[in-house]
Amino acid sequence: MSITYLDSNATTQTAPEVLEAMRPFLADLYGNPSSMHTFGGQVHRRIEEARSQVARLINADPAEIIFTSCGTESDNTALMTAVETNPRKKHIITTRVEHPAVLNFCHHLGRKGFRITYLPVGGNGEIDPDLLLKSVDDETTLVSVMYANNETGVIFPIEEIAGRLADRGIMFHTDAVQAVGKIPVNVRDTSIDMLSLSGHKIHAPKGIGALYVRKGRRFHSYIIGGHQEHGRRAGTENVASIIGFGKAAELALTTLEEEKTSVSRLRDRLEQGLLASCPDARVNGDTAHRLPNTTNISFEYIEGEAILLRLDEYGICASSGSACSSGSLEPSHVLRAMGIPYTAVHGSIRFSLSRYTTEQEIDRVIGLMPGIVKELRELSPFGRDGVTGPKQK
Ligand code: PLP
Repeated sequence: MSITYLDSNATTQTAPEVLEAMRPFLADLYGNPSSMHTFGGQVHRRIEEARSQVARLINADPAEIIFTSCGTESDNTALMTAVETNPRKKHIITTRVEHPAVLNFCHHLGRKGFRITYLPVGGNGEIDPDLLLKSVDDETTLVSVMYANNETGVIFPIEEIAGRLADRGIMFHTDAVQAVGKIPVNVRDTSIDMLSLSGHKIHAPKGIGALYVRKGRRFHSYIIGGHQEHGRRAGTENVASIIGFGKAAELALTTLEEEKTSVSRLRDRLEQGLLASCPDARVNGDTAHRLPNTTNISFEYIEGEAILLRLDEYGICASSGSACSSGSLEPSHVLRAMGIPYTAVHGSIRFSLSRYTTEQEIDRVIGLMPGIVKELRELSPFGRDGVTGPKQK
């Protein structure tokens, strides 16, 4: 059975060009980039090329890019930098809709005595920059707001927020894991201090990330040991993945504008097709400020998990807004923060496309979904009015 992959915010297919670029570094070019010999030195040079490729994608200087093991490590490192470089200040501002890589680290810091402000979002998942500014006080050391949300695709006004925080002695970090490579991200001439990236969201392999740290900003190493990454992140480099990340960044930069149009056209076709054919369906999040590849749709009164299982039978991959934990369904913290009704949160599905998504795949999903939704509604334990209990036949 062929796979229809509409889960690109979870991870992406490694691009063939990326695999090709990586291959020599998994075979013949195995030298350690820190070695004195020429064999290792050539690997070192290729890592620096990859650094330049990643830097170009966000218009940074190569010296501002630190390779990490993933987006999560980049986020954790950014938060720890603020904590360690300014130990007297103990207040952090973030949002209620961050990825767990930021949110759970903030919970951890909260347990260690930090005061964390979790900003609310509106019904469309948007944040209020004025409210954010009002939350700043003399104790604030860091503001961390994601560039774009992984569940809804909603894009936040990051440059505006960073600009308004400038010169207040507060670090500004953004988790741009979902934004980079999908929309233009340009750190030059902004007041963004740190920005997280992850390779596997842009067709590089899993297990490689990067953190942009603005020149002149204080930095604290999270992984301590050898002198790799110019002394900022210890550990022998994941060479092949770094090379792959560089290639993926180069590809993303050259295709970004074209893909923004082609991918959003397919996303809109899917969204409109599903809204037209499935009753009681609604889009979650601000559709005017959204990643081109993402749509989050609630099919009310049914479980998203059940939809996923039915789609899975046809080889269609997507994600739901509730995750199974300890035997019960944990509703999405993002959709809950947006005040989406319980019956809609549980029936939400995220479809996320990529450059490899085809019109045939989209039309196949549009063709199958109405039947799946109808069938599951018949079986749904939720009444149409949202009151739980077995539905009367
Ligand atoms: N931040 C966001 C917004 C994400 O969507 C993800 C992954 O889903 C991460 C961070 C974590 O990245 P990684 O999987 O590379 O650790």
